[in-house]
Amino acid sequence: MAWRAACIGLLLLAAPGLQAAPKAHDHGVASLSVAIDGRTLSIEFEAPLDSLLGFERPPRTDAERRSAVMLLALLHDGVRLFVPDADARCLPQPTTLQAPALQPGAHAAGDHADLLARISFHCGRPQALRSLKLGLFQAFDRLQRIDVQIVGPQGQHKASLRPPASMLNLQR
Ligand SMILES: [Zn+2]
Repeated sequence: MAWRAACIGLLLLAAPGLQAAPKAHDHGVASLSVAIDGRTLSIEFEAPLDSLLGFERPPRTDAERRSAVMLLALLHDGVRLFVPDADARCLPQPTTLQAPALQPGAHAAGDHADLLARISFHCGRPQALRSLKLGLFQAFDRLQRIDVQIVGPQGQHKASLRPPASMLNLQR
């Protein structure tokens, strides 16, 4: 699989905000925002590339390129890492991924690089959304904490997850 074709196929978008000087982040710590608005379940997952790949610069070897392609594919197919309650009848919508360091032709820019994934679902019975099953700690063993913010019909709350947590309660 050609690296360039893989990236284009995965809708890897240029992100002006992320292409600017990379901000400092804590390795091992990811953030997750979950919003329920009407029938739409929106998920934003942002993590240091180090925590997902083990490196934070454009891939240099074939093995690194393969790892990057696999990472993007895994996140692009959001239902492999984020599973809403079956009763809520949620259908995945197109995912967008931003990871400037993994774009074809990218040059190393600073010491840090992030990946941002926006994943959404259209839910037939959003009132049945009670939890979200997460495969993040199982997929990424460098992750040590996920800071979560949830905004739903009942208001807003926060949570902090540590391995091996795999269930996020969406209700207060
Ligand atoms: Zn970093």
